[in-house]
Amino acid sequence: MTRTATTLLNNVFGYDTFRGHQQEIIDHLIAGGHSLVLMPTGGGKSLCFQIPAMIRQGTGLVVSPLIALMQDQVSALRQVGVRAACLNSSLPIEEIREVESQLVRGELDLVYLAPERLLQPTTLDLLDRCELSLVAIDEAHCISRWGHDFRPEYLQLDTLRDRWPELPMLACTATADQRTRKEIVEKLRLGDGCTFISGFDRPNIRYRVTGKVNERQQILDFIRNEHSGDAGIIYCLSRKRTEKFAEYLSENGIPALPYHAGLPAWVRKKNQERFLIEDGLIMVATIAFGMGIDKPDVRFVAHLDLPKSIEAYYQETGRAGRDGLPANAWMAYGMQDVILQARLAESSDADEQFKRSERQKLDTMLGYCETVSCRRQLLLEYFGEILEKPCGNCDTCLEPVDTFDGTEAAQKLLSCIVRTGQRFGALYIIDVLRGSESERIFRFGHDRLSTYGIGTEFDAWQWRSVIRQLVTRGLLAVDLEGYGGLRLTPAARLVLKGETELHLRKETAVKARAAKPKKKKATAAALLETGTEEESTANQELFENLRELRRTIAAEQEVPPYVIFHDKTLVAMALYRPVDDAGFLTISGVGQTKLERYGDRFLAAIRENS
Ligand code: ADP
Ligand code: ZN
Repeated sequence: MTRTATTLLNNVFGYDTFRGHQQEIIDHLIAGGHSLVLMPTGGGKSLCFQIPAMIRQGTGLVVSPLIALMQDQVSALRQVGVRAACLNSSLPIEEIREVESQLVRGELDLVYLAPERLLQPTTLDLLDRCELSLVAIDEAHCISRWGHDFRPEYLQLDTLRDRWPELPMLACTATADQRTRKEIVEKLRLGDGCTFISGFDRPNIRYRVTGKVNERQQILDFIRNEHSGDAGIIYCLSRKRTEKFAEYLSENGIPALPYHAGLPAWVRKKNQERFLIEDGLIMVATIAFGMGIDKPDVRFVAHLDLPKSIEAYYQETGRAGRDGLPANAWMAYGMQDVILQARLAESSDADEQFKRSERQKLDTMLGYCETVSCRRQLLLEYFGEILEKPCGNCDTCLEPVDTFDGTEAAQKLLSCIVRTGQRFGALYIIDVLRGSESERIFRFGHDRLSTYGIGTEFDAWQWRSVIRQLVTRGLLAVDLEGYGGLRLTPAARLVLKGETELHLRKETAVKARAAKPKKKKATAAALLETGTEEESTANQELFENLRELRRTIAAEQEVPPYVIFHDKTLVAMALYRPVDDAGFLTISGVGQTKLERYGDRFLAAIRENS
């Protein structure tokens, strides 16, 4: 059979059709053209250079910033029978020699290298003696000085263009604004008219934001109700909090590990490896965790602290659902978060201009949290993309929030703050409004104020939301030096005097919320629901058995389970239940090599359960 791009896609990778721009990019590269490829995480960038490397004469060079990342890709390629290898410092010397001689003999379709290794004179000399087919630069945004992942070695990659002028070069990334894009094209001298941009939307991710009341209970409920047995990442701001929550979840029977820059390198490495290899482990991490985490079956990303910007939030949540199956981006946030982030923005040593830009980013983030319209529309708009209709897969779309004329509520709140001396935090103010009989209130004599007990129409949860919204809109300022005392800004005077109207997001009272029927969950397990309840249960059982078999095989080979098959492929097996080789081959994600290697064992497991 001739090696066309489509036959390789079908027979080797086991997929039916190309996605988005894949075909165009592949044709362009096979024909010898340079390109810059922008695709969201999980969009399928790798195939864009893997397939041309298999078709063009010679070996394709892939530059990748992280060793863990390249090892995963190489394992996955070998699983489907592609001749791939990597060269890096973690390999024993004999293995390096072996890969080098395979290279010289022209026995490899792809070789993965870190930039510093590639640019060593000995490596370059070696490569001069080999036949090369193309150069692919993964995570190309690392070339940008402005980006968050700048790597100085990436800057020197342009020397490759002089060294091998005839080789086509493909640079790819998932994060690139206009400026970064321009930088990549200029520095690598890719020329005009070669940029392929796919939309940034991640339709399978469901975005949700909720107020924080009892964060421990909230995260526990979220995981137990929607993600039992799933892998996920929980982001916290501080090292201490990651440890606290990892411990708390473990105590409650949910396997979780901490990850932050303060842990010894070997612990970080071990925890990361366990996260990749084991099914259903939760990583409770600071933002130190994530770059290069290619795990496709992360089913949720939860934020227990407010991210400092939309960029950070989108990148972090983007680590969920790379395999395209339903996933959740869930966040709980409260006043304390706002105070903390505002403090961080103020306290840095940076100049005033930088601080102002940090404050602006935080304000945009808060605006996102408190929005009453579609969250996805807002996110995409931030990245310069227009989504015509509300998405139908975020909390505000699924459970539209009401707005209400909040002028009176705001007036009650503001005057209560004035009367108590503009020095108390949110919790105390709410207590006064709701007429709490706390000892503190009596001690200060605040039970005698005219605002005492005038706010019983809302519960504490709803009042918190009103306060957050007034802070977000710049009507209330938070004392960042002390204990988060609230005070009025000049703009608040207008509201107090009744000169402006205020429309606010209306939170449903806690009691009413508990009574509401639950929405269909965004979980992979939901895909196994078909026909009757019995059938669905049977599908679920088979899926679990297939997972178990996958775990066994992965352990035999010491690779992560998703390198054997993705969840998506197992779901398809459980639903379609193929009975023979031909049927097994029709499953998306099963190609010739995987059929030969695993067909018998998986078919047997399916037979046993049918
Ligand atoms: P990223 O763009 O994040 O590098 P990957 O290249 O890792 O994404 O691809 C994400 C997943 O999608 C991989 O498991 C890959 O095998 C799968 N994939 C890529 N292209 C296709 C396709 N045309 N059809 C089905 N699955 C695909
Ligand atoms: Zn929406």
